[in-house]
Amino acid sequence: MIRYALACDKGHAFESWFQNSAAYDKQVKAGLVVCPVCSSAKVEKAIMAPRVAGAKKRGNAPPLPELPPSPAPSPEAPAPVAMVSPQEREFRKKLKELRDHLTKNADYVGQKFPEEARKMHYGEIEHRSIYGEASPDQAKELHEEGIEFHPLPVLPDERN
Ligand SMILES: [Zn+2]
Repeated sequence: MIRYALACDKGHAFESWFQNSAAYDKQVKAGLVVCPVCSSAKVEKAIMAPRVAGAKKRGNAPPLPELPPSPAPSPEAPAPVAMVSPQEREFRKKLKELRDHLTKNADYVGQKFPEEARKMHYGEIEHRSIYGEASPDQAKELHEEGIEFHPLPVLPDERN
């Protein structure tokens, strides 16, 4: 087994085990290796961990589709590896909570968001919490008009 430190096209670092480098190539080409943070299949080797575990080659060990639990690095053998930090997971959880809270307590106005936000800003309608969509241009205009709003956090696995 070989451990590779990997990084996705968004720069998330993680690690995964492969039977050998050929298995790695095959799994990456087949899109079977995905970033645990954003599920991107565009991953490549970051820094290769030089440690090879298990001197004896096991016959038909199946390829590992999932990340094994990462053991604590042993102090006497430091190796350049990377993994998703607990902080990042925690942050992601917080984002989801924030998003859930927002969407539960605000009215969805879809693409009328810029219009509604403007009406509220200029006192034409009563203030309330809304969320919806705004193009980058619209967002810029709203911002320039001094209208306060925030991008709704989008979680990677909720896209598409
Ligand atoms: Zn990623």
